[in-house]
Amino acid sequence: MVIVFSAPSGSGKSTIIKRLMADADLRMAFSVSCTSRPPRTGEVDGKDYFFLTSEDFRKRIAKGEFLEYEEVYEGRFYGTLRSQVDAQLSAGQNVVLDIDVKGASNVKAVYGERALTIFIQPPSIDELRRRLTVRGTEDAAAIDTRIARAEYELSFAPSFDHVVVNDDLDTAVNEARGIIKKALLLG
Ligand code: 5GP
Repeated sequence: MVIVFSAPSGSGKSTIIKRLMADADLRMAFSVSCTSRPPRTGEVDGKDYFFLTSEDFRKRIAKGEFLEYEEVYEGRFYGTLRSQVDAQLSAGQNVVLDIDVKGASNVKAVYGERALTIFIQPPSIDELRRRLTVRGTEDAAAIDTRIARAEYELSFAPSFDHVVVNDDLDTAVNEARGIIKKALLLG
């Protein structure tokens, strides 16, 4: 299956995905996306993202290399490579995508029943602002941009197959694991 996670930035999505991927029974492989944004401190090319120039990104769009892509923030492109997803599915793995809300609905439209979309919801916008501030990877203006984006993304939650509220991390991980196991018919 293609398992798609979307969530506003700072809702704990990456942590939840990492915890789920540690469960070997789920046979999950992470699809590394491409982006035209610069790497953050500690991010590794080819692991967190394939970091591309805007020009290279555009060339790949023209060549049809993306299963889906979006301009998530102004001038910042993000896209899922068809080659990544196809190779992982062919290898018998369940592919995990961490993409924005529009990308998620595009992937659902392509894969239908073979796609499972999960929205990770923060307990509240105030809590989200607090988490982004504590994380400290963005300045105040960038946090404001991400909060505005979060409010927009929250409006898409009802269109997902499942919504998991991340109030308590362990509870959220267990809930997501249950949803995935059921979809994979693992009980
Ligand atoms: P960040 O800059 O924090 O790494 O990611 C910003 C947003 O872009 C997140 O919501 C993330 O899920 C989304 N994103 C990452 N990769 C992709 C992708 O390949 N396609 C789409 N549509 N969104 C992506």
